[in-house]
Amino acid sequence: MRGRRMRRLMHFVCAIAIVVFARGSAAGQSTAASEPGKKASATAPEAQKFIEDAEQRLFDLGVKASRAGWVQENFITDDTEQIAAEAGEAANTAATKYAKEAHRFDGLQLSPELARKRLLLELAAGFPAPDDPKAQKELAQILASLDGEYGKGKWCPDGEKEKCLDVTAVEKLMAESRDPEELKRAWTGWHAIGAPMRQRYVRMVELGNEGARQLGYADVGALWRSNYDMPPDAFAKEEDRLWEQLRPLYLSLHAYVRGQLRKKYGNAVPERGPIPAHLLGNIWSQEWNNVYSLTDSPKSPASYDLTKILADRKTDPRGMVKYGENFFTSLGFAPLPKTFWERSLFTKPADRDVVCHASAWDVDSKDDLRVKMCIQIREEDFRVIHHELGHNFYQRAYNTQPPLFQSSANDGFHEAVGDTIALSVTPEYLKQIGLIDVVPPASGDTDYLLQQALEKVAFLPFGLLVDKWRWEVFAGQVKPQDYNKAWWELRKKYQGIVPPVERTEADFDPGAKYHVPGNVPYARYFLARILQFQFQRALCREAGFKGPLHRCSIYGNKAAGEKLNKMLAIGQSKPWPEALETLTGEKQMDASALADYFAPLKAWLDEQNKAKGYPAGW
Ligand SMILES: [Zn+2]
Repeated sequence: MRGRRMRRLMHFVCAIAIVVFARGSAAGQSTAASEPGKKASATAPEAQKFIEDAEQRLFDLGVKASRAGWVQENFITDDTEQIAAEAGEAANTAATKYAKEAHRFDGLQLSPELARKRLLLELAAGFPAPDDPKAQKELAQILASLDGEYGKGKWCPDGEKEKCLDVTAVEKLMAESRDPEELKRAWTGWHAIGAPMRQRYVRMVELGNEGARQLGYADVGALWRSNYDMPPDAFAKEEDRLWEQLRPLYLSLHAYVRGQLRKKYGNAVPERGPIPAHLLGNIWSQEWNNVYSLTDSPKSPASYDLTKILADRKTDPRGMVKYGENFFTSLGFAPLPKTFWERSLFTKPADRDVVCHASAWDVDSKDDLRVKMCIQIREEDFRVIHHELGHNFYQRAYNTQPPLFQSSANDGFHEAVGDTIALSVTPEYLKQIGLIDVVPPASGDTDYLLQQALEKVAFLPFGLLVDKWRWEVFAGQVKPQDYNKAWWELRKKYQGIVPPVERTEADFDPGAKYHVPGNVPYARYFLARILQFQFQRALCREAGFKGPLHRCSIYGNKAAGEKLNKMLAIGQSKPWPEALETLTGEKQMDASALADYFAPLKAWLDEQNKAKGYPAGW
């Protein structure tokens, strides 16, 4: 089972094909909106015309960028990369321009729909450039160089010439090696890619903040936190509240894993202190499923091997996708369009380079749904395809909304929906569709939950702290001379992790995590982990399921399907608490669903920790 979830990390950044309104990094040129003092008084009809024009223009540019992106990822050449970059830049430039101009209409009373569109337009610039064209150019260059540098990042164990490892190879090594010295070398080797980025990152922060201030936000972090239908600081508090609900569970898991690692690595792992970051099976120590095999949880004798079952039945990639589609039609969703089967990519082509990393697209934002994934016939991909189709059915559900509302309720929702569906891939579901004959007994549940927790619970503090660090950096609370120190303080405080070797300000360890140089906000991943359990709890309630949450699959339940579709169809036309309420009856995010799901595991962990004398905390 080792490596069963290795692809999850890749899939984690699973990009839904984003039509322009995505709050991605938009460092485009911009025209000065209006200078203070020169404000002409705007009228409501002018605002309406501006908003409708902007919406249409961004929609057109978005479809173009989406087509160019599809071609580029399916036929990687210098030319397609150039074409896709140009289309993306045109869309981002326009988004930044409209974001600035929209403020002209700030004081006006508009209909609720137009007012929401105005707000979404203003937030569409994810990483705004300042007005000055020289600064714009500089920022665009910095963003592209940081992103490119990460992409080209390598660790060369024996010097430049021989066998250099890219991120995928380093991840594989970290997942599989049990040699602490080798792990330490790999960890240190990979983290060296951050150091050269530091000066440019400092400059990027300055320029982005200048752009954000011109848009009326205190800094880039405040702009990012404004995407959640509440004041920026209230959102930060919301995240802290959710984390407090889950800290006890994390502490139990941390204590157990630390004790189990000590069994393997001895005193290299302290009895009471933080865990060295290189021993958790993952470069960033963000998911721990790769050390599952070092744990002594009771293995169920009656388990099954889905990978083998799928292979024995000679399931092909198309057949894998059909299983996923069948899940959704069983809930009452219409089958995928004919074009989905004609235009998707399911198999890695032999004759050309493609981006294999799983993604789900709606190219024309009407019903041109597609999946791009190099499917392997194995359990993990079986789950991933259910997840990817979750994106597709979400995209389809909101495609009757006006373009500006065609997105998930907040950026955590899209990933959460796919993961919710994947939570329903339970043994009961596999039995219902005839893949297994017997559902394993409850005695195997602890083991199953432990595997899930090593991925989903272990991730939580990391999901929280990446943006905590960035928010402090953008706000100037952490100065450049303390970047690395602040990073490791947060990692110790929240994750209970320390670097395996001494770090100084000559290092820039945040740069070794894609989303930092790639400028992708991270709070969405934290939210998605929490929301998926809240969604699942509500859907299972709707389906009338009685029993432990981890055993629930909503497969075949039309009432649950209808409820889900109601939320999906809202897109982002309303503030996310209303979308959440439609499905769950709850207006607040609530981590108690996640805690409920893992409650049997928490009891088991506490028992183990007590019996084995494993202390909690660090
Ligand atoms: Zn996804």
